Amino acid sequence: MKRLLLVLLFFLFGCAEARRPFLNLLPEEKEIEIGRSYIPYAIEEMDGLYPDRWVQDYVKRVGSSLAKHSDRKLPYGFYVVNSSKVNAFALPGGPIFITRGLLLRLNSESELAGVLAHELGHINARHHARFLEKQFGISLLLNIGALLLGDKPYGQALLQFGQIGGALLALKFSRDQEREADSYALVYTYKSGYDPMGIVKVFETFKAMEKTRPPEWLSTHPLPETRIRDVREQIERLRPSGSFITDTEDFPRLKGRLKATQESFEEFDRGKVAFSRKNYTAATEHFRRAVELHNENYVARAYLSYLLGRAGRLEEAQRHADIALRTMDGVFLTRYVHGYVSFLSGRCEQGVKSLEGAKSLIPDYADTYYYLGRCYEALGQRSKAVDNYRTAIELSKGKAEWEGDARERLRRLGI
Ligand SMILES: [Zn+2]
Repeated sequence: MKRLLLVLLFFLFGCAEARRPFLNLLPEEKEIEIGRSYIPYAIEEMDGLYPDRWVQDYVKRVGSSLAKHSDRKLPYGFYVVNSSKVNAFALPGGPIFITRGLLLRLNSESELAGVLAHELGHINARHHARFLEKQFGISLLLNIGALLLGDKPYGQALLQFGQIGGALLALKFSRDQEREADSYALVYTYKSGYDPMGIVKVFETFKAMEKTRPPEWLSTHPLPETRIRDVREQIERLRPSGSFITDTEDFPRLKGRLKATQESFEEFDRGKVAFSRKNYTAATEHFRRAVELHNENYVARAYLSYLLGRAGRLEEAQRHADIALRTMDGVFLTRYVHGYVSFLSGRCEQGVKSLEGAKSLIPDYADTYYYLGRCYEALGQRSKAVDNYRTAIELSKGKAEWEGDARERLRRLGI
């Protein structure tokens, strides 16, 4: 009898234990969907996708050879972004980003493999998904996609969507999570034939930089001395034998291509600093110089176009907006600027097209809705104008310079 009771208790307890984590678990397809929706945010935050097909393909090739050995079968993606910051990060469900700035600091393909494998490790261990579950709760996460798919996504859903994005991009890992990601990284690099010491070399580079200019990567991935020691010890325990890939001919080629555009992106960085200080004359000159140095620097070109438009030099602004969009049409920035400049030039049909395209990538940027409202109003589409002004006002939270104008226009439209 006593024994039966024990069995019964065990059964009940066991069921409860098995069920509880399940109820709190974000389904994998949702994890993938959420990660995918924030790819444009990450790209925007990191100054756009690096405009070189070869560079993108090469990093994808290295990343995919590692991802083959991950336990989870996810739609992994590898993106090189323009930012000069020294960083790499991932989103839930598969997307992985590495900055131009970090690539310039690496010395071999095995180091690149180490960095990508570490980010794969975080995804494999569901670190992002666990963070979301804890921070936002499962019901909000399950609904967020549906809210956005609605006919007229209202301000509140968009604000929550933006909050999740902000939290994901600033997500800090614990020391235990770092250790877990490192262990996975070693397995992936080892199985793909890369020298597992690559990641240790990257850590040493970061440690050396810490005293003068700490890499941004360290602000989200803690790196105490003990961690480097742990990874070294693990490699010794694994005692990998045989020959490993340390480098290939492609890696120096990658570095060469990145170095050729470095000066242009440094000009862009200077332009952005001037831009944030509202020193628009200096910013315009820096962006112009960045474009002269590298014709494909579409981020610099988009900023240049925006500033020219703002200064009323519409013809020149439109020309740059057109080229920027042609160079890279899959990112928010070029679509938004093209839409904005088209609106200024009175080309509202193409303005609507580009702004709707921008909105489909990043749905919570208030200015997009305001300029969409202006375009629809100019085209005589009253109800669309009203919807867009309303959303613009909800999202701006009283901070936009056009808010008074949007309210006045709503009043004139009879709202
Ligand atoms: Zn990490």
